[in-house]
Amino acid sequence: MIKPDKAAPPAAIPFHRPFIGKEEEDAVLRVLRSGWLTTASETLAFEKEFAEFLMGADAPLVALAVNSATSGLHLALEACGVRQGDVVIVPTYTFTATAEVARYLGAEVAFVDCAKGSFNIDQAALEKTVTRLKNGLTAYENGGPAGRPAAIIPVHFGGIPCNMAPVMDIAREHGLAVIEDAAHSFPSKLESGVYAGAIGDAGVFSFYATKTMTTGEGGMVVTQNPKIASRISVMRCHGIDRAVWNRYTSGKASWYYEVIAPGFKYNMTDIAAALGRQQLKRAGMLLSERKKIAALYDRAFGKNPCFILPPHDPANSYHLYPLRINPANCGVSRNQIIEKLQADKIGVSVHFIPLHTMPYYKKRYNLKDDDFPAALENFLNVISLPMWPGMTNEQIEKVIDSVLKASVLKSAKGNN
Ligand SMILES: *Cc1c(COP(=O)(O)O)cnc(C)c1O
Repeated sequence: MIKPDKAAPPAAIPFHRPFIGKEEEDAVLRVLRSGWLTTASETLAFEKEFAEFLMGADAPLVALAVNSATSGLHLALEACGVRQGDVVIVPTYTFTATAEVARYLGAEVAFVDCAKGSFNIDQAALEKTVTRLKNGLTAYENGGPAGRPAAIIPVHFGGIPCNMAPVMDIAREHGLAVIEDAAHSFPSKLESGVYAGAIGDAGVFSFYATKTMTTGEGGMVVTQNPKIASRISVMRCHGIDRAVWNRYTSGKASWYYEVIAPGFKYNMTDIAAALGRQQLKRAGMLLSERKKIAALYDRAFGKNPCFILPPHDPANSYHLYPLRINPANCGVSRNQIIEKLQADKIGVSVHFIPLHTMPYYKKRYNLKDDDFPAALENFLNVISLPMWPGMTNEQIEKVIDSVLKASVLKSAKGNN
């Protein structure tokens, strides 16, 4: 076990704990004993089952397993032709992986604020930035990068689906690729029956240890575009053309391959895939467990003016429970509430520290913290509470109790 930082008290209720059962253990052992550990039949089966989960057996959706969502985002941008000097548009309210992949390719990053009161991208600001770039201007009125706008990476924050229709409209009008960062949103089934992640030119899911299903480290790219699929399948394994490889391995020359580009080493191991296949079988159960916990939190905090609940969306996959403090009513700060939770040995997190406030991006694009005020406001007031399948009612009650004890209404403070 990794020991927690000495300065922090040991978390009696961890922020996250993956749900790993006997089935996962057996599946991994089976691969370990098989004599073949890396990408092979388990990975192929995992890809097939994942695609089927999202769109059914005979759908045109292709799933490509990779060793992380970060690799998947990199591959997807590369396959969409993003290159040096292009501009990739991403929300500032996301993890650094969403933006860094553009920099891997030498492209610049233009940030977009959250819609006011929302965790997801501001569609009007997105359209404005795309239009400015198209017209040869900088991304924002007060500066930012300039260049060909090549792609948009919308994020389904915390599992709350980003409204994709306007994003797709803007992208189609101006000829941009859309890569959904679906790291949080497995499985978010929209009213239309389509899953978040299966709408854009490509979608990328994460199986990192804290995500809604896990392979330890891992990810999946999905796409309905055969050209993108074939480029990714070549580039995730050293730029080796598998079509050629297959042609020869089906004959005698199993040693033969052709390198058609300087590719990457982003393939998934069969050990990880075996784990993923078992997690996939649990997806429905894991989602309903998270929903149950979210409903208890909603009930506990919903009528308390100190708090703003996460926006309600029936398609939410509840990767996170981002509770916001309402500074107009709450007499204590977000940090004070976190300190109380930590003192009670409850693991918490903050999603996200906006990227435009990070030293690298701040300096590169000459940004100020209040350039994206809605994202900044979310960041200053948000706490992610523990929410993982297997949490006991007692643990959930303990979290609720700790949050409520820490929160003091402004009016109550004034009366004391
Ligand atoms: C976790 C995460 C990623 C990266 O996932 P990895 O599988 O760890 O590479 C990308 N985007 C967002 C929004 C994430 O939270």
